[in-house]
Amino acid sequence: MSVDLHIHSTVSDGTLTPEQIVAEALRLGLETIAIADHDHVAATAAAQEAAEGRLLVLPAVEISTELNDTEVHILGYMMDCTNSTLLQMLSRVRESREHRAQEMVRLLRELGAPIQYEQVQRLSGGGSVGRPHVARALVECGMVGSQSEAFRLYLRRGRPAYVPRYKLTPTEAIDLVRQAGGAAILAHPGLCRDQAIVNRVLAMGIDGLEAYHTNHTAGETKRYLEMAARHGLLVTGGSDSHGPEGPIPVKIGSVPVPGTVAEELIKWAETHDAHILAGG
Ligand SMILES: [Zn+2]
Ligand SMILES: [Zn+2]
Repeated sequence: MSVDLHIHSTVSDGTLTPEQIVAEALRLGLETIAIADHDHVAATAAAQEAAEGRLLVLPAVEISTELNDTEVHILGYMMDCTNSTLLQMLSRVRESREHRAQEMVRLLRELGAPIQYEQVQRLSGGGSVGRPHVARALVECGMVGSQSEAFRLYLRRGRPAYVPRYKLTPTEAIDLVRQAGGAAILAHPGLCRDQAIVNRVLAMGIDGLEAYHTNHTAGETKRYLEMAARHGLLVTGGSDSHGPEGPIPVKIGSVPVPGTVAEELIKWAETHDAHILAGG
């Protein structure tokens, strides 16, 4: 059984629609997928409808959180995607992101930068707008020579165009997924800048680790599989594909993930009375 439990769609910053992802997954012969869009759960229902039972689409989300200024991604699986608390909190996170980008553009324009919010949106490729896109707009208009200069002079905390953003902590994201009946998983732990963060998230009571990931080395995958086994945690994995376009194209299904991973998640959901919506 081939599975890919970490795919992004146009609902966040991927380039394929949920329907195109389903078509591609069917073409590749995948049996189970999950679309874990950033701070958004709308892709799951769309993909389940498109799948018409030909492949299993598990409910998923990837929530952006922050711990001591470090970005930590928490994946949620098997939750009820119509849970009102979940939907409210995710929309608050997304609105804050958008408002923040608009505010940064306003401040930069006051500082004389000839940039527009529409330009920043275009640079984000229609996905979630963030500081890197504002930085690219500053490079594009010639105000700075590089993105790092844009951060150093304007966008970093304490600089004139810095705008704080509402973000959940990992604990809040774990609780949010749990109260919606889902399992909370630490995304790509190998990409955490500081491995102490992995231990802290373990101590917060995470349900599992994403051991299989495009950017994990074989050694990292092994380490997180062992860590999960030691703590009795779930294991997940996927390509983290954002579609065939973009600077680093990653194909759906390109990371080998054992089918048992999906089976264990489904078993977990059954014992935790979680929600597997129609479509499987
Ligand atoms: Zn991520
Ligand atoms: Zn991702």
